[in-house]
Amino acid sequence: MNGSPLIGVLALQGGVIEHVRMLEQSGAKTRLVRRPEHLAGLDGLVFPGGESTTMSKLLELGGMLEPLHALIDAGVPCYGTCAGLILLATDILDTRSDAHSLGALDVTVRRNAFGRQVDSFETDLTVDGVTGSSGGGTEPAEDVPVHAVFIRAPWVEEVGPGVQVLSRVSDGGPADGAVVAVRQGAVLGLSFHPELTGDDRLHRYFLRMVAERRGKPA
Ligand code: GLN
Repeated sequence: MNGSPLIGVLALQGGVIEHVRMLEQSGAKTRLVRRPEHLAGLDGLVFPGGESTTMSKLLELGGMLEPLHALIDAGVPCYGTCAGLILLATDILDTRSDAHSLGALDVTVRRNAFGRQVDSFETDLTVDGVTGSSGGGTEPAEDVPVHAVFIRAPWVEEVGPGVQVLSRVSDGGPADGAVVAVRQGAVLGLSFHPELTGDDRLHRYFLRMVAERRGKPA
């Protein structure tokens, strides 16, 4: 397969267009995914932020759960941010009893984990595998951290043996040490919203995962 990868963005609810923009600026073609037939031929799929229980309901009503399980089982790379991470997890704490998750990442996440006082906050993170600068200007001598925006975000409370922790909060604040970026094989999950900051390094990281699967050099 040659040319730009085709990345779907689940478009049932939530912050869809920001992901589309960032993927396109990173060299991918995109497709909005609303129905099972939109999954055909995708090289990767993004699960955006929003409200995970609402998305879960819409996935169920739209007959999307089984086709998504099949896509994940086929090894198509998936990338979830915030509510998207919750949907990709195996176990969810503090959710509705009828909420579905896809079990693509062997992690337990806690919804709205950061508590009221830090409901929404921003911090700088070191993310394994993300180097260089956030773009614009000359390359710095040292890697620039990722500026991360958290909006009623989940954190990852437990990780299974096959899961790599890519980043933890390390600002000395109330959430210090919380796991906020994980990868398991072809699945990437983030608590925060890189699509909102103009820093496309995490989207490029995901596109490298997609390229690896397509057997091309990054
Ligand atoms: N709190 C939301 C949920 O539980 C996630 C918030 C977000 O995606 N920004 O689904």
